[in-house]
Amino acid sequence: MEASNREKGNHNTLVMKFGGTSVGSTEAVGQVVKISRDALATWPRVVVIVSALAGVTDRLLQSATQAAAGNSQIFNQAAQELRIRHHTIAEAIVSDLAQQFQVKQEINYLITDFINLCQAIYVLGEATERAMDTVAALGERMSVRLVSAALISAGIPSQYVEATQLIITDDHFQAAHPDLVATTAATRQVLEPVLAQHKIPVVTGFIGATRSGVTTTLGRGGSDFSAAVIGSALPADEVWIWTDVDGVMTADPRLVPEARTIPELSFREVGELAYFGAKVLHPKTIRPVIEAGISLRVCNTFNPENPGTYLVSDLSPLKDGVIKSVTAIRGISLITLEGRGMLGVPGVAARAFGAVAATGVSVPLITQASSEQSICFAVPVESKDQVVSSLEKSFANEIACRDIDRVWATEELVIVTVVGAGMRSTPGVSGRVFSALGKRSVNVIAIAQGSSEVSISMVVPAKDIQAAVMAIHELIVPQKEA
Ligand code: ADP
Ligand code: ASP
Ligand code: MG
Repeated sequence: MEASNREKGNHNTLVMKFGGTSVGSTEAVGQVVKISRDALATWPRVVVIVSALAGVTDRLLQSATQAAAGNSQIFNQAAQELRIRHHTIAEAIVSDLAQQFQVKQEINYLITDFINLCQAIYVLGEATERAMDTVAALGERMSVRLVSAALISAGIPSQYVEATQLIITDDHFQAAHPDLVATTAATRQVLEPVLAQHKIPVVTGFIGATRSGVTTTLGRGGSDFSAAVIGSALPADEVWIWTDVDGVMTADPRLVPEARTIPELSFREVGELAYFGAKVLHPKTIRPVIEAGISLRVCNTFNPENPGTYLVSDLSPLKDGVIKSVTAIRGISLITLEGRGMLGVPGVAARAFGAVAATGVSVPLITQASSEQSICFAVPVESKDQVVSSLEKSFANEIACRDIDRVWATEELVIVTVVGAGMRSTPGVSGRVFSALGKRSVNVIAIAQGSSEVSISMVVPAKDIQAAVMAIHELIVPQKEA
């Protein structure tokens, strides 16, 4: 693999993304200003991407859903709260009164849009995915105005930019896919002149627009992905993801207080962690930066001196710890299709996954336990009935003649995944993992080895999530060391 820009030591363009907590209060926005100023000391061109203030996207979406269900109180109340929250930060951080007035007025306009949209949804009694995206986008549209004004107020030239002008997507609302060619052209066209004026563009994370200009979103937590897409379009030399923890850790610190920061991790490892539920990085973030040879760093807005985690193309075997991190996804169900009549019948698996694909449900894991007499895979628990009925319909003939005995779904389970590139060349790792789980009486229902060979996933009962993650974490950080 080619050396990354960090390895080459290029210092021209830096993209920094700040998550919801990192812009969620006056103090946090103050940190964003400080970090941006410091970055300018080393990097001539800095682009900032921001999420909505912490909790705002949830509040917007909940208001629209409630409006569709006939509740007009929630959105009116939310409008009031959102206005106060954004205004309070503007008042604390934008000292010039004329500029402060202008930001507050722009926020008021967006809040008026929010009320009008929710009112329309309330009258229609329905919120389409397209309407939900327009509502959800308001969070980032408000936060960029605030953060850009905070920079200007601190004497740092800046301009806010809505990514509807930069990230051109398909119309798959709520999980839109960027067209990288169109996005590269648009991003350069809009951002280059801003950068040429020595301004920091403050760009909305999470959102994009179709070719015809309809607002879309990239999926929850998608601002990391926005940073990667914009970073690869410019291209940037490095992309830094500023969040509320000291980088990518040995486990989610909310589950395991003893979790530690991992200083270096390969893209493949972090890809598995993100895919299997480590919320610290959106899983789609990795591909654009790898393809563009850009270094990715995850660091803490509230502890900027800590170097955080650097993601690198590949690690030397010496640097590889065996098990590096453990993660978990809640809310899954295992679906099993079983029957002796399946033995040797070609195409059963293809038809089974075809039936699942027809429901639009994604399958995070396929177990290796499947013999020719059964096929077993995971789906989100809320989709289990839909998937079972699609399979029953698709195999109605086989079920009628008893070639397939049954299709069934479990209750809610969790997937626990162990990640580490050294695992594949080290014998006995899975043995240690299973015996650690056994000691805590955690029953492993199914297993799967990640196709990139850097992970092993186990399906365990939902009630055992904490015990399972803790037990495995002790193999990474022994308790006496913690
Ligand atoms: P942001 O709003 O900055 O995007 P997120 O809440 O999306 O932040 O992601 C950061 C959170 O991810 C952390 O607060 C932490 O609880 C969670 N997390 C889950 N797994 C990990 C992990 N392995 N390392 C670090 N953080 C993790
Ligand atoms: N604000 C969006 C969300 O809450 C995107 C993000 O935070 O990354 O999902
Ligand atoms: Mg996030």
